[in-house]
Amino acid sequence: MIYDVIIVGSGPAGLAAAIYAKRAELNMVVIEKAALSGGQIINTYEVDNYPGTPGISGFDLSIKFREHADKLSTEFVTGEVVKFDIDGAIKVITLDNGTEYKTKAVVIASGGVPRHLGVEGEEKYSGMGVSYCATCDGAFFKNKSVAVVGGGDVAVEDAIFLARICKQVYVVHRRDQFRSSKSLSNRLLSFENVTVLWDSVVEKINGDDTVSAISVKNLKTEEQASYEVSGVFIAVGYIPNSEVYKNAVATDSAGYIIAGENCMTNVPGVFAAGDVRTKDLRQIITAASDGANAITAVEKYLNDL
Ligand code: NAP
Repeated sequence: MIYDVIIVGSGPAGLAAAIYAKRAELNMVVIEKAALSGGQIINTYEVDNYPGTPGISGFDLSIKFREHADKLSTEFVTGEVVKFDIDGAIKVITLDNGTEYKTKAVVIASGGVPRHLGVEGEEKYSGMGVSYCATCDGAFFKNKSVAVVGGGDVAVEDAIFLARICKQVYVVHRRDQFRSSKSLSNRLLSFENVTVLWDSVVEKINGDDTVSAISVKNLKTEEQASYEVSGVFIAVGYIPNSEVYKNAVATDSAGYIIAGENCMTNVPGVFAAGDVRTKDLRQIITAASDGANAITAVEKYLNDL
């Protein structure tokens, strides 16, 4: 069987693409790495900027997206793409279980993974106090002191989530202002139990069996200090899941697949949507909009074949 389009990834971009593809009556399948749709938003405590659903949790929003795709009888397959042959008009995608899928077009909506800090103690205490998901692990640190590293939307959202349950939250950010939206950062700064360590970096994560402290350096004053914390939540961005596609389609120096608003890559029939592609704003709404744009471009591509 040769599909019209295969969508790789089931985050907001992949699910929006699936909804558009089903509505366009394309013969398609969605390949998802885990049998849980939603991508990164599964771990987002609260999404307050997606129109029509103020205050919804990322998990609940992802369920709504998935239910919408299910309502249209979307076919989902679980597996990891390990091979991507796109030379010919018929592209072949191979999964880790050896299954091959043939398709005329592909939408890569594979998202990204959390970036690591690369400091001493990070790997050692991973899962023993070091976490990349506040909403997954935050409850373990109820009434304790924790640190959040980063200054983007995720770091600030995580810190707000933690401020509600932890005794003290230190936010360690390398610059003197947040990258996150103003409304989020204002909300964070309104918590009395939040201390922002501006212009600062974590140099080392210390502990015995579990995390007990972080060594922090102020980049402007060079001052070093230690903060007693039981948990360190690292939220310093994502690395695009583009490794398997890198040799096949053009990427930028950070690994993002180069594609514009129509999601077209440099390879005919291959489209990139959501966080995995080069773009200015990585948000749920822009990922979802990519899904729509990608399928519109896929339809044009298929019509011209
Ligand atoms: P981000 O916006 O790229 O922010 C990453 C943060 O980590 C930045 O503050 C950055 O510092 C810092 N950082 C990066 N590398 C670092 C390092 N090695 N050491 C110390 N700090 C480091 O990433 P994000 O917060 O994960 O968000 C990812 C995307 O998802 C963003 O586009 C965001 O807007 C979006 N998002 C949207 C929503 C929503 O729509 N509600 C929710 C969550 C996330 P600098 O500021 O100095 O660069």
